[in-house]
Amino acid sequence: MKKILVTGGAGFIGSHLCERLLNEGNEVICLDNYFTGAKSNIIHLLDNPYFELVRHDITTPFFIEVDEIYNLACPASPVHYQYNPIKTIKTSVMGSINMLGLAKRIKAKILQASTSEVYGDPQIHPQPESYWGHVNPIGSRSCYDEGKRCAESLFVNYQKQNNVNVKIVRIFNTYGPKMHPNDGRVISNFIVQALQNKNISVYGDGKQSRSFQYIDDLNEAMIRMMNTDDKIIGPVNIGNPNEYSIIELAKKIIKITGSESKIEYFPLPEDDPIQRQPDISMAKKILNNWSPKIELEEGLIKTINYFKNIIK
Ligand code: NAD
Ligand code: UDP
Repeated sequence: MKKILVTGGAGFIGSHLCERLLNEGNEVICLDNYFTGAKSNIIHLLDNPYFELVRHDITTPFFIEVDEIYNLACPASPVHYQYNPIKTIKTSVMGSINMLGLAKRIKAKILQASTSEVYGDPQIHPQPESYWGHVNPIGSRSCYDEGKRCAESLFVNYQKQNNVNVKIVRIFNTYGPKMHPNDGRVISNFIVQALQNKNISVYGDGKQSRSFQYIDDLNEAMIRMMNTDDKIIGPVNIGNPNEYSIIELAKKIIKITGSESKIEYFPLPEDDPIQRQPDISMAKKILNNWSPKIELEEGLIKTINYFKNIIK
């Protein structure tokens, strides 16, 4: 039985990961400050004696003995990470320093949840890990993008300088049950609007694209990455390469929900990337032929069923 710390464990991705790691027979410590996460995401795990919940903010040090750390703590939706940009930077930078320091002291393996946002508004398509990105360092997304870029630098340098066993995954747009209804990201927004027969809020002309990955495919890849040989550090892209325009997504969600919603156009937020698609050849190679299994329609149906139960 491994002892595993999941920071950001009460959030969307973290709560699924905690559940899966527990089901696989591990002892799990979920750490969260509840900024965007919720106790309701993990409340069903509280009866399990091998699950512990800690209210803590990773911008201050934390001490514990564990074998592995998944560092997921950080708001991920543009609305939330832009709410307090300085805090977002502190979470990525000071939070990573605190978690890497812990990993160094206790000789734990540590995996960083990095992001496709390190590529910014990419000029290469699809994006391979070798691409250095196209990020506006002073724009409204920079608190997140540059914070995550600095975190990647901290991870590789703790490995080089202090021999910490690190892993970095660059996660592309991921969705599924347990996203917060007010999360602000496109899939949860559109589903909630469609189920309430409200207008669907498309930003810009809706021709910008994203490649959407279902949560279970991500967690399978993250666990495989944690279990790779110590020499494998990454960063490795984790995503589903099937790419859709935002308009296509809106129409799909209206169709599946049978909604009467109409599309309403709003201004495109500053620095919103035009297109995004992961090159996942490295992931396939180093993660035992991993590839995403759940395509958009199937994943949307599961997510819509979840939201049907939680919104009036
Ligand atoms: P989320 O907002 O649902 O979860 C983040 C969790 O971190 C929340 O529970 C929040 O309360 C917690 N948190 C935030 N700041 C904290 C702090 N200072 N100390 C302790 N806890 C803190 O978002 P998510 O989609 O589950 O994302 C999880 C991780 O994956 C994030 O690091 C995010 O950057 C990364 N990621 C997600 C996606 C995606 O599409 N969902 C894409 C790329 C990267
Ligand atoms: N978007 C949209 N309507 C919404 C929320 C988002 O049109 O209600 C667009 C947004 O402008 C972006 C895409 O959907 O082009 C994905 O946005 P999200 O916030 O989900 O993630 P990110 O931009 O970080 O990939």
